[in-house]
Amino acid sequence: MAGLQPVKGTYDLLPKDRAIHRKVSETARLTAERFGFNEITTPIFEFSEVFSRTLGETSDVVTKEMFSFETKGNDKITLRPEGTAGIARAFISNALQHETPVKHFYYGPMFRYERPQKGRQRQFHQVGLELIGVDTPQADIEVIAAGYQFLSELGFADVVTLELNSLGDTESRDAYRSTLVDYLKGHYDNLSEDSKTRLETNPLRILDSKDKGDKEIVKDAPLLGDCLNETSQAFYDAVKHGLDLLGIPYTENPRLVRGLDYYCHTAFEFTTETLGAQGTVLAGGRYDGLIKMMGGPQTAGVGWAAGVERLALMLGEDCVELPRPIVMIPVSADQQDEALKLSHRLRQQGFIIDQGFSGNMKKRLNRANKANACAAILVGEDELARGCVTVRNLESGEQSEVSLDALGETLAQFNA
Ligand code: ATP
Ligand code: MG
Repeated sequence: MAGLQPVKGTYDLLPKDRAIHRKVSETARLTAERFGFNEITTPIFEFSEVFSRTLGETSDVVTKEMFSFETKGNDKITLRPEGTAGIARAFISNALQHETPVKHFYYGPMFRYERPQKGRQRQFHQVGLELIGVDTPQADIEVIAAGYQFLSELGFADVVTLELNSLGDTESRDAYRSTLVDYLKGHYDNLSEDSKTRLETNPLRILDSKDKGDKEIVKDAPLLGDCLNETSQAFYDAVKHGLDLLGIPYTENPRLVRGLDYYCHTAFEFTTETLGAQGTVLAGGRYDGLIKMMGGPQTAGVGWAAGVERLALMLGEDCVELPRPIVMIPVSADQQDEALKLSHRLRQQGFIIDQGFSGNMKKRLNRANKANACAAILVGEDELARGCVTVRNLESGEQSEVSLDALGETLAQFNA
């Protein structure tokens, strides 16, 4: 049976892995809340159109990376490759235009049919923010500041670089597109096959090409920044001014474009050199055209998404500890019932109590060590008769007899 291995590009999050992920997602959620963003969860699948229409028919995600299927009722469904399109759909479905600005935080699995490698899976997780309904640079500043604070809380302020660019408004991008196409046509023969197609469909995407030859050509291409009209330049300057005010360092990267079609004005990425090739940990930008493109009212938006797996890799194994239990050990089978009742009572009081289910004292103590237990409660016949149990500190090996009445107080030094 092929099913004994996880599907290519997917993997199990064992409890320790999950704890690291939770540290990432909880840090993100708490930071988001501090900026007034609350959590939303949209379905992990949507009608395929939600993505195909908005991410751009020619984007890599849509042309190559989507997990799509047809239901028994002939609906075309796609497992979400990213969070923004679903949130924009939810904005429209729930008529949230009356409640702007809408500030959402999200966390959850995303699915892309990509070649698996370090920091790149087919099922992965993202945390993200969306600020919808504000068309001024203040929103961009707020969203980037939240991203920076999130990464700083994880301890990464010194190992990430904020790269910043402006894609301008539609007019600026149209002007740039023709300049770029003129330049690229001069190098047509050396473009990759994909990029030859992109030249017709979406030339800006060539700037984001991962192909070596394309990259060489792109290096000398004209810059979008030189085509920004006055409005776009003023918008970009205001974003930079805000970041300067907050002391958030950034590097301007005039070649930064985002992989999806719906972006305008601000584009940014936090990158790191600590992860090798997969160096982008948080990426985002402004998407003023998205909600309208989907059939909703003209509504501005700006947001980011961060890859949880990549941040977990950066945190490493030692950043979290699983909860340390207190183990309950009946000295013989006769104390089994009393031990069970005592566990029940202590858990109701909030203690983390683990029970071995079988074995003698030695076996159970071994298991307790493996579970990284901090203490053991030994329930023996003689002590019980006196209304007591023995509490052993598994760090120091010290133990003492404690009356059942005082047990909660004694255990409070360990957990709860
Ligand atoms: P890349 O250039 O690495 O393919 P992208 O532009 O496709 O990234 P976005 O769509 O902006 O990425 O997603 C935001 C973040 O989600 C990325 O910066 C990355 O941290 C993470 N991410 C994207 N795709 C994957 C994946 N297949 N596996 C793990 N993390 C991913
Ligand atoms: Mg990608």
